Amino acid sequence: MTETVRTSVIRKVIDVAGIVPGVGFRPFVYRLANECGLTGVIANTPAGASIEVQGEAEAVERFLERLPKEVPPRTKITVLGLREAELQPETGFRIAASRTDASARALISPDVAVCEDCLREMMNPRDRRFRYPFINCMNCGPRFTIVHDIPYDRARTAMAKFKMCAACQAEYENPASRRFHAQTNACWDCGPQVSLLGADGARMDVAEPIREAARLLQQGSVVAIKGLGGFHLACDAQNEKAVGKLRERKRRVEKPFAIMVRRVEDAARLCVADEISKKQMSSFERPIVLLPRRAAVAFVPGVTPGNRYWGVFLPYTPVHHLLFQSGKFEALVMTSGNLSEEPVTIDNEEAVRRLNRITDAFLAHDREIVRRCDDSVVRVAAGQPQKLRRSRGFVPVPVQLEKEMQPVLAVGGELKNTVCVVRGSEAFLSQHVGDLENVESCRFFEEAVQHLQRILDTEPKVIAHDLHPDYFSTKWAQERTGVELVGVQHHHAHVAACMAENHLDGKVIGIALDGTGYGTDGAIWGGEVLVADYAGFERAAHFEYVPLPGGAAAIHEPWRMAVSYLAKHYGNEVEKLGLPFQAKIDSRKLSVVLQMMEREINSLRTSSCGRLFDAVAATVGLRGTVNFEAQAAIELEMAARDSVSESAYPLDLNLHGATWQIGTKSLFDWLLKDIRQQTSVAEMSRKFHNGLALVFVNVAEKIRAKMGLNRVCLSGGCFMNALLLETMVAEMKERSLEVFFHTEVPAGDGGISLGQAVIAGRRLEG
Ligand SMILES: [Zn+2]
Ligand SMILES: [Zn+2]
Ligand SMILES: [Zn+2]
Repeated sequence: MTETVRTSVIRKVIDVAGIVPGVGFRPFVYRLANECGLTGVIANTPAGASIEVQGEAEAVERFLERLPKEVPPRTKITVLGLREAELQPETGFRIAASRTDASARALISPDVAVCEDCLREMMNPRDRRFRYPFINCMNCGPRFTIVHDIPYDRARTAMAKFKMCAACQAEYENPASRRFHAQTNACWDCGPQVSLLGADGARMDVAEPIREAARLLQQGSVVAIKGLGGFHLACDAQNEKAVGKLRERKRRVEKPFAIMVRRVEDAARLCVADEISKKQMSSFERPIVLLPRRAAVAFVPGVTPGNRYWGVFLPYTPVHHLLFQSGKFEALVMTSGNLSEEPVTIDNEEAVRRLNRITDAFLAHDREIVRRCDDSVVRVAAGQPQKLRRSRGFVPVPVQLEKEMQPVLAVGGELKNTVCVVRGSEAFLSQHVGDLENVESCRFFEEAVQHLQRILDTEPKVIAHDLHPDYFSTKWAQERTGVELVGVQHHHAHVAACMAENHLDGKVIGIALDGTGYGTDGAIWGGEVLVADYAGFERAAHFEYVPLPGGAAAIHEPWRMAVSYLAKHYGNEVEKLGLPFQAKIDSRKLSVVLQMMEREINSLRTSSCGRLFDAVAATVGLRGTVNFEAQAAIELEMAARDSVSESAYPLDLNLHGATWQIGTKSLFDWLLKDIRQQTSVAEMSRKFHNGLALVFVNVAEKIRAKMGLNRVCLSGGCFMNALLLETMVAEMKERSLEVFFHTEVPAGDGGISLGQAVIAGRRLEG
């Protein structure tokens, strides 16, 4: 027998970045090293981790090959360096104790839907966590919403008050366990518990609160359910009375409710779900996914009145799963636990105070929600998942930037507000803060700013804000002392956000279409083509100005915009046009509006594309008043989907100096002709969409001819309209324009904080 000669033992050091604490990276490396028969160590570094492995060269190779392929699902590592090192006398693989200084700049993970392994345990009567509503592991559970401060460990989270029992502690210390170093580890003996409260907040004496809550839901009650980022208000989606009751009590007139279904198959039975949507729905982020409802499906009309798109999502906490398991309902309405537009409620006592008139009971628990975080909303358009609201599940995952920048705080706009902090080459957007129109939302805004700065351990000395002088966020920025302020034009921010997430630099053609954005001339902009880079922009084209009679009233009452356009094109005696929709207008109100515009009282000029949508929706008779933002435009889009017309209403292009003005006279001439010929609303809506797509493609081509630019960025709330986006993208590609749109951050105002931040960051360099 010959002696085995170990000649090929080597030691390699691998430096990796991109690790998020709380996703199980270190236990994964530990297991992999053991499987490959290697010794060594893994330690945290400021950038991520340093792994040292030692063993037969072949085994080390195998380890290196498997490492990037088999990393836990939520980890995207980058190997920074790989080098040989001196052999060490050691017998096993170990995980070095975490040093707080090293992990201080590590990232916080978003909240993650309960994983399959945990679900299996939860359903197993022999498991010690059988039916435990807070089961979690390294791969799943709450993170962002329970973190007070960094570095991420139990003492700085809402789990601090729950001391781990011996069994949990043993898992926590066992590198082979799925719960090794899981800060949120808990069980029936040591972790959070659910309780059922009556509408008055009094605790109900029930043995199994979740079964009882399920029974109440089944009977048609409204139950407020405490989740990850806030309370939901829930009821059986197929119980007409329950849905009606919830709608009435919440004073939510027509805005659609989101629906939670048990499995992705159920969603596909109710709605037409493509593969990308299904994948989104089942992802660990578990967003609400907008899907077209199947025509044949009978459903309670009060769930999504007049809307053919349903917001559907799957259970993402153990509590949700247990509810579906305990009750006989197919789908639950799950809407944010708030009053109209206030932020979602997170605290038990606050919930009782604010929701007691809406709900019949509360399914609460004793784990604090540190930061509220609404559900995210996704819709697939132009073959890509688009985030209409980027919040739970996605926050605080950063958007990668091309370059490192000085730390900047950007405070966003007024509606659908988010804030953004840039650190190094990463931009961190906050959760959806909402409309800054009430005290609660403004307080939440401040909390979101502070929380984000705290968990990123950075306090920027530069604040970027919108130019609108009356926005809460603008005023808040201006009240800060010892900071540099950078004002950013709204549509420039939209375009820059689109550029940043698509990693573009240099000049682009930016098409920003939305409802409202303060222009540099004091007018309300919203139908803009900018030739822009991060440093600045030129306004290359925009819709011709029309009056916005009554300001905010014109937004709530689209008929005012119809009158504004009609008066502009056909003179003040609009009633003589005799259009069907005019019969519904109060003649006294009409004359007030006409006078207002004539005397230029409370009638700012606007080039808003959103308002043009409103005007067309009202003129074709679809809707004269709205109950929620963009309702008329949403209905116009849905109507247009019933037509396959390829005709387009013409829009006029007139050059004024160096700027193209997009006129709407021809559009209205054709529209009125169609109305008189009783053309269907579907066809008129389609022709309007086609016309819009065409005119902006024409403008882009003119700019290309003049300036040699070929890249087009589409941004602004109007591009949440999937039909407009898809039509425009197809038309642009046809003309060989390179077109970019949003997939990382919302096209609407939820994305502008990113644009503001990058513009301010670049300005500092300049
Ligand atoms: Zn798990
Ligand atoms: Zn325990
Ligand atoms: Zn906007």
